[in-house]
Amino acid sequence: MNKLSVIPAYLCTMTKVYLNRKITQRIALGHPWIYNNEVDRIAGPVAPGDIVEVYFFDGQLAGRGYINPESQIIIRLLTRKREDITAAFFHQKIQSAWDYRKQLGYTENCRLVFGEADGLPALIIDKFNDYFVMQTLSFGIEVWKEAIVAALQSIFNPKGIYERNDVPVRELEGLAQQKGFLTDPFPTEIIIKENDLQFYVDIENGQKTGYFLDQQDNRKAIQHIVNGADVLGAFTYTGTFEIHAAHYGAKSVLGIDISASAVEQANKNAVLNQLDHIVKFEAMNAFDVLKNWGKQGRKYDVVMLDPPAFTKSRSNIDKAITGYKEINLRGMQLIRNGGFLVSSSCTNLVSPELFLDTIEMAAHDAKKRIRQVTYQSQSSDHPIIWGMENTHYLKFLIVEVCDK
Ligand code: SAH
Repeated sequence: MNKLSVIPAYLCTMTKVYLNRKITQRIALGHPWIYNNEVDRIAGPVAPGDIVEVYFFDGQLAGRGYINPESQIIIRLLTRKREDITAAFFHQKIQSAWDYRKQLGYTENCRLVFGEADGLPALIIDKFNDYFVMQTLSFGIEVWKEAIVAALQSIFNPKGIYERNDVPVRELEGLAQQKGFLTDPFPTEIIIKENDLQFYVDIENGQKTGYFLDQQDNRKAIQHIVNGADVLGAFTYTGTFEIHAAHYGAKSVLGIDISASAVEQANKNAVLNQLDHIVKFEAMNAFDVLKNWGKQGRKYDVVMLDPPAFTKSRSNIDKAITGYKEINLRGMQLIRNGGFLVSSSCTNLVSPELFLDTIEMAAHDAKKRIRQVTYQSQSSDHPIIWGMENTHYLKFLIVEVCDK
């Protein structure tokens, strides 16, 4: 074979993209996204997924990244240097993401690649011990799927890799929603270990990638407040917080989720950990439960709330805040004097400040005094990059709640 024929065309004739004079500071400060309206001109042909070289208006190199003229985010930078973007580039990035997780103590389960925060825009890879679940959420990263799978195979020799690309955001990039095996098929209901407990993960049909690894360190954080407590957990999914509560010595635990299949899985998890005599799950609407049980005067020592994201669009932030205020206010009203509220928010567009202000308003309206026990974010296998606000999305708060 002629050696030249194996060099991808873009390496020979890489198209150059010049940015407007007026671009946001964001790009210069390290943010990898370039919007359509920030591009002055494109010198050369482009097809979706091509690697292009990007320059600031003054001719300085901004970096190299993949382009998709179909997307509002036209370019996502992969590097700030003039380096070749090849399969070896992705291998090296994934290896260094893994080295970082190991350094932080994540050995079995972790978010191995958290997109932009690992310099791999729009790529998500969750590691569940020997199994991997992957999302390629933009055209430019989809192009490299085979290279990424090959890198996982060479670094981990996994038992299986599964694609959970059944997410609407792909359509903004002109990609179809899809899911399926990226290796030979394997049984997609697996068991993982977390904090001395075990959980079934349904890789094929579970929510998102099957399991919320971002809360793994927060689940440990409830250890000292649940001992001997009656606990109510709303938005329980597969019951992870609630089973932790039982494990840490709660007297009784009830978990609520609107999804019957989540509740079924949660019950299986309770049995798996031999904690089903303490923790029960029921399929109900948490909004109704919180409202009605408060009116009935039911009381708990600990109430835990972990709702799904309430909005993905800026125009609905007010509605999201109303939702957070409602459930936290009702939650506080269900808590015995001196008990605890454990409250999470994963809505990207709700900043930590806004979330904490909302909790304060809820406490005020519920006529409660609150004292902060713990405030933290997602676990550190989902790194937060300063200057990239959407990498800081999870808010996790524990407060003691007292009557005024
Ligand atoms: N705490 C879980 C994750 C919760 S995800 C964990 O750590 O694994 C949010 C959950 O809220 C989903 O399982 C979803 O089914 C559930 N949900 C959404 N709307 C709901 C509602 N109105 N009432 C109860 N549960 C709801």
